[in-house]
Amino acid sequence: MAWDFSTEPDFQKKLDWMRDFVRTEVFPLETLDLDWDQLRTAIAPLQDEVRANDLWAAHLDPELGGQGFGQVKLGLMQEILGSTPYGPLVFGCQAPDSGNCEILAAVGTPEQKRRWLDPLLAGEYYSSFALTEPDNAGADPTNLTTTAVRDGDEWLLNGHKWFISNAATADFVIVVAVTDPDAERHRRTSQFIVPIDAPGLEVIRDIGSVENPRPRPNTYGSHCEVVLRDVRVDDTALLGNPGDGFLIAQKRLGPGRIHHCMRWIGQASRAFDMMCERATYRYAHGSVLADKQTIRTFIADSAAEIQALRLMTLHAAWRIDEEGTSAARKDIALIKFFGAKILHDVIDRAVQVHGSLGYSADLPLESMYRAARAARLYDGPDEVHRDSVARQYLKGYTRPAEDRPTEHIPTRREAARRKFADLLAEQP
Ligand SMILES: Cc1cc2nc3c(=O)[nH]c(=O)nc-3n(C[C@H](O)[C@H](O)[C@H](O)COP(=O)(O)OP(=O)(O)OC[C@H]3O[C@@H](n4cnc5c(N)ncnc54)[C@H](O)[C@@H]3O)c2cc1C
Repeated sequence: MAWDFSTEPDFQKKLDWMRDFVRTEVFPLETLDLDWDQLRTAIAPLQDEVRANDLWAAHLDPELGGQGFGQVKLGLMQEILGSTPYGPLVFGCQAPDSGNCEILAAVGTPEQKRRWLDPLLAGEYYSSFALTEPDNAGADPTNLTTTAVRDGDEWLLNGHKWFISNAATADFVIVVAVTDPDAERHRRTSQFIVPIDAPGLEVIRDIGSVENPRPRPNTYGSHCEVVLRDVRVDDTALLGNPGDGFLIAQKRLGPGRIHHCMRWIGQASRAFDMMCERATYRYAHGSVLADKQTIRTFIADSAAEIQALRLMTLHAAWRIDEEGTSAARKDIALIKFFGAKILHDVIDRAVQVHGSLGYSADLPLESMYRAARAARLYDGPDEVHRDSVARQYLKGYTRPAEDRPTEHIPTRREAARRKFADLLAEQP
């Protein structure tokens, strides 16, 4: 199938507007230590402007107030938005809300959509997604131990979750819990919408992390520890059918990984720009850094890596648009671990080129570097994606006859001698 690299001129105009808007209106917010209430106040007029430009919540279909752009266009948008931590928030497509919107849009009842999706889309509500548990390997979500047990007409939820992004500022959490421990591995869990103030749900703390060692209360970007003790919800909280938890989670993750990678490209490109700019004037040992071979290698390697990741990611996005998420599984797993490494490596080189300034908090490289480390873990650690890629490639291979490599030259030579026996017989 042909792959068209061009961007429609009308859409390119939108991208150009976004790039300019993000630089002039959103970048400055990074430099202020705003709490969640201040941040919401600051971004409200920007969000209105985004709506007026028909770019709000672009990940959703038009009937839900989105633009129905498809993954390639969304990817190109995320590349611009991801260059700053608040970009997606200003455009109404921040994780995990964007994924939660997709879940609610795909499997929510009309009542669930009215109650939770509409305010989420309007930017009135914010949400979290609670899958990972401190006592079980999040890399294998079939091991979950949070339970939802039937109790009359209700469900009783008990469990311990952690690293639940944005739970400190969320209005509701989508909780993944085991509803049938005896079912087949992928049919054990279900997803429930739980209001953040539900009795028994406690956000214990915003966990200090590499990204944010000493989190302040009521700030955007928390990763929280959450306990559920006899939290009661009724059937209106259940998403899809009992047992659909894993299936729904898979739906959410495919396009989400495209968006992660495109946001990483936005970050890596920003680091790349800083690295090149610094190289033009920093003078050491008789020349500017731009004249040093090692620095030029940093620049060339980074450019090649960013370009490769961009093409791979857009290709995966294009496959989703053309053939659906499951057809693109291998491509999505490839970019997830490949992209996380490139993000890290490019920022790391940019830090190196800036020396102590790069290491300092006087440049955004420092926080970008810390945030980049998490990319190798969230939405599945590198190893799991590598494993998935290798497994899918290996499906195309079978054990050769007599365990001898197909390319074994002496064996092929024997066959070739037989095939060309006449020709060889004619030779003197
Ligand atoms: C910044 C950040 C935000 C997050 N936000 C959320 C959120 O909003 N909601 C949520 O539910 N979770 C969230 N998470 C959790 C994240 O999804 C998990 O960290 C991830 O799934 C890994 O699970 P784990 O931490 O339990 O590590 P484990 O599953 O214990 O894995 C640890 C390590 O074991 C190794 N490993 C695991 N499996 C294999 C394998 N098959 N082969 C080889 N090695 C393997 C890998 O090296 C892996 O890094 C977030 C995490 C981070 C860092």
